[in-house]
Amino acid sequence: MGNEGIKTGLPDVIGNWKSGEVQVGSLTIGGTSPLRIQSMTSTDTRQTEETLQQIRRLAEAGCELVRCTTQGKRELRALASVRKKLRKEGVPVPLAADVHYLPHLALEAAGVVDKVRINPGNYGIGPRQQALAPEEARKLQKEYFTRLIHRCRETGTAIRVGVNHGSLSEHIMQEYGDTPEGMAESAMEFLRVCRNRQFPNVIVSLKSSNTRVMVQATRLLVWKMWREDMHYPLHLGVTEAGEGEDGRIKSAVGIAGLLIDGIGDTIRVSLTEDPVKEIPVAKKIARYSLRMPAQGSRKRPVSFLEWERRKTFPVLNAGGDHPPVLITGLNEEKIPAGGKNTGPSADFFFASSEKQLALIPPGKAGIVPYVCWQSLAKKPSRVYPLLDSRHYADMASWKGKPFFAEVTATADIPRLADILKSDLPAILVIRLPDQHAVEMLEECFYLIHEHGLGNPVILRKKYSEPDPEDLLIRASCETGPFCLDGLVDGLWLEGEKPFGPDDAASLGAGILQATRLRMYHNEYISCPSCGRTLFNIQKVTARVREKTRHLNGLRIAVMGCMVNGPGEMADADYGYVGAGPGKVHLYRKKQPVLKNIPEEEALKALEELMRKEGHWVDPA
Ligand code: SF4
Repeated sequence: MGNEGIKTGLPDVIGNWKSGEVQVGSLTIGGTSPLRIQSMTSTDTRQTEETLQQIRRLAEAGCELVRCTTQGKRELRALASVRKKLRKEGVPVPLAADVHYLPHLALEAAGVVDKVRINPGNYGIGPRQQALAPEEARKLQKEYFTRLIHRCRETGTAIRVGVNHGSLSEHIMQEYGDTPEGMAESAMEFLRVCRNRQFPNVIVSLKSSNTRVMVQATRLLVWKMWREDMHYPLHLGVTEAGEGEDGRIKSAVGIAGLLIDGIGDTIRVSLTEDPVKEIPVAKKIARYSLRMPAQGSRKRPVSFLEWERRKTFPVLNAGGDHPPVLITGLNEEKIPAGGKNTGPSADFFFASSEKQLALIPPGKAGIVPYVCWQSLAKKPSRVYPLLDSRHYADMASWKGKPFFAEVTATADIPRLADILKSDLPAILVIRLPDQHAVEMLEECFYLIHEHGLGNPVILRKKYSEPDPEDLLIRASCETGPFCLDGLVDGLWLEGEKPFGPDDAASLGAGILQATRLRMYHNEYISCPSCGRTLFNIQKVTARVREKTRHLNGLRIAVMGCMVNGPGEMADADYGYVGAGPGKVHLYRKKQPVLKNIPEEEALKALEELMRKEGHWVDPA
């Protein structure tokens, strides 16, 4: 079935497609059930006491389903004992076994746990099967999977068909490459077997560490399922999102990018931290991505088959081919002696009064309210006025320099369209309301598209959340999806003290980087760790970050094992991968270039490799 008809605009299916219900132990996922939060243990599954403790802590934090690494029979036996103990203690949280490669292990896991996750990229395809012709590989996987379906039907076990961008099977790679379409087709091959066997207890996921790919692939999958009348619930997640603020922002923009369209039944946030910390983050993403079902046009003017940035004409350094810009207020407090702000800097600074104009950093551009602008006897050369709806009429005869036009209600767009149709050099600033920001933005972009406006668009919002994590996640969920869709030419985020202009620049830069619109610093892709991890991933990631933080614009992956690490680090420039106890493989792109380096020498070897590749500079 071709993809004709979905090249432009989100088809009606997005937002209207509904999932069916799947039972995982005592938990119902999909249909009208609430969004479910899940996670994965980072322990060696065979260490039953440790695993048990982590599952208890996860369940107490609100995790509704826990997945454990299951490399072999010993892990499976440990899982059986963990599950028994949990039930004895009255902890009903369902358990999932994460199985790679081994169909016989997946068969055995059915009945022992509540759900079995398999990866279509490697299910039944070991090194010896890699050379199979595509049709033979498909046939073999289908046979194995049919057996698993029979077994799961007997035991009442659910299945997750969990596709990863970085580990697609050879036959999918040959046909589609590592594209969103390849990911969606990889899942569809397995889902068609479920549909033909009338097996409904299946959940599906398409994950990537690239948020844009993850959103595109999942939308495409929903569209394909809709065309083939399938309603399997969706598990959402951004793989190897990393840690700290970057990990939270990346997870929020990717997951919210789908949740705001009503896609997603269960979510997992993957952080390179204690998995218990993932739970509050996931809950916040769920809260801030909820929308009013009856509101919003859901008609964002975007293509989801091929990513495209909204076409605009450039005004100053916004829009056109320029990367999105950042606007912040001005830092009135002096930076303490000896300290300096080394974070990203804004492109424009907003001065709320004439007095503040003096605070604009040298060489930077400024914005002032229109009333202030009018009162200036001498107009500074790189300062531009911000007009709100009270002054739209003044634009009609505008002969001056570029300006910013603020939109505070959807009704402002048709008014502006009448005035701006002569391509006035205006940058639109959409000011998001406190509530229903997503709905308002959708309507605005729809109207902008309908009126044929090609002006750059900046999103502005003032947040009042006192908790920094709340603010960060809310801003990511509200603005990130529109950045991901290529509709945004800049961000202007504000908050209440102590959230200041530097924090706003850092958050805005994080969102633009997580949505792949602009790269401000290195991107660290690190796995959340699991029972396969061969070193302390948090410590090693911190060391790699420390070693390379002065470099710029690189994607650096730190992965805990060779089983999934190389595949899942996807498009990293460099990879640091656990190869065995105390041993590391170093990757350049997808190639392992230095193997079995003793861990204590690995950072130095990474430096040498980067030097050889022309990416290393000595820190100042
Ligand atoms: S890369 Fe390996 S160690 Fe890291 S989470 Fe994936 S399977 Fe576990």
